[in-house]
Order: sequence, then structure tokens, then C-alpha cells
Amino acid sequence: MKAIILLGAPGAGKGTAAEDLKQQVGIAHISTGDMLREAIRAGTPVGREAKAYMEKGELVPDDVILRIVRDRLQAGNPDSYYMFDGFPRNVHQAELLDDLMAKLGGEITHVFMLEVAREVVIRRISNRRVCRQCGAVYNLNGMRPKVDGVCDVCGGEVYQRADDNETTVANRLDVFQRETAPLMAYYEGKGKLMRIDALDRKETEEQILRHLDIDSQ
Ligand code: ADP
Ligand code: ZN
Repeated sequence: MKAIILLGAPGAGKGTAAEDLKQQVGIAHISTGDMLREAIRAGTPVGREAKAYMEKGELVPDDVILRIVRDRLQAGNPDSYYMFDGFPRNVHQAELLDDLMAKLGGEITHVFMLEVAREVVIRRISNRRVCRQCGAVYNLNGMRPKVDGVCDVCGGEVYQRADDNETTVANRLDVFQRETAPLMAYYEGKGKLMRIDALDRKETEEQILRHLDIDSQ
């Protein structure tokens, strides 16, 4: 098993980059945010535990996250190539992931830090809409679905996430600075960190593919 990690502030474009990469590379996308939203919708114990944290823009406890990631990896094919989006989100989760990878005989090959200015991120998030069903990401400013409110990919409902409001976004950005940004030093120390200028969607994808040694089509 191999894995890459997409790091970046909320709104940096991890989900969009993940979708673009899926088209180019046979890679399984693991978004802990999507999995948690799905658990909330399905009313599972994980969903009930996660809901209040997510609404406030706080991190869901590490043990809950580890449980969903472990279940997902164990259910998958051991030869798979995974892309983590939104996980790990603090140094403790990164250490848990290292342990899990060691147990499963897997390896993290690259960690991409998607860098964008704070103003850009705030603007993107307030215009962001997502598909309730498949998680596809849209933006009212330039990346609208072809039919209003309907997902181009799967026909699902396109909506605005409850945590994509100004107050929660400010907290999520603070949580990112405090908890997630230290992961840069963590992975830099392991020689795995690649910084990506993530202002432009196409160029973001191209930079990542170049690091992965894959020609874009
Ligand atoms: P974004 O990156 O735009 O904030 P996500 O969908 O990745 O969006 O995450 C939404 C929320 O889900 C987070 O604010 C947090 O509450 C929760 N969450 C997602 N992934 C994790 C994680 N790895 N650890 C803790 N909480 C998480
Ligand atoms: Zn969809």
C-alpha cells in the first residue's frame, strides 16, 4: 500500500485537487471530512459524536478519526494507492498514521502542502458548494454546476455545508494554524514535504503530477 497526503487550510482546494488527481491516476480518495458528513447523515455513533465538533469548526477527537481511517484501510485492497485529504490534521494523528502504515506494510510517499493566501481561502469558502452524495466541490464564482443545485458528476444535491459560514471559517483557520501547520515541519523532517502554489486549479494539479512523475493528459 502506498499513500500520499494533501495538506492545506480549509478552502485551499484539497478536495478539488483530489478529484482532478483521481481522473489522472488510479488512486483512492480518503476524505475524513466527507466520511464524517456521511456518518452524520446516516446517524451512526461516529456521526453523533462528530457533529458538535464539526459545527464549531473544532477537530473531531483523534480516536474517532483513527477508527474510521483504520476501518477504511483494512477494508481496502492491500495493493491500493491512497490519497488522504483532511487527514492527518495534527501531529498526534500523523504519528498514529505512521504506526498504522507500519502495521499494514504501507508507505507515505509524498505530502503536498497546498498554499494559498488567507483572503483567497475565505472568499473560496463563502462561495463553496458541495455535492451531498459524492462530495464533488463547486464554487459559485467560476465553478458552478451545469444545472443549479445539481451535481454534474452524480446528479446529487449541491448544497452549502453548515460549517462554511464566516464565524466557523475563522475558527477553522485558527485551528489549522495551531494544529495542522506544524505537520509541515513533521513531514519536512522526513523529506516528504512538497509545497504547492495552489492559486490556480490546473497548475496545482500539474505541480502534483510532476512530483509524482506522471504526465498529465
Ligand atoms: P475543510 O478542510 O474545508 O475544513 P473537511 O471536510 O476536511 O473541510 O473538514 C470539516 C470538519 O470535519 C473539520 O472542521 C473537523 O471538524 C472535521 N474533521 C475532518 N477531518 C478531520 C480530522 N482528520 N481530524 C479531526 N477532525 C476532522
Ligand atoms: Zn455528486
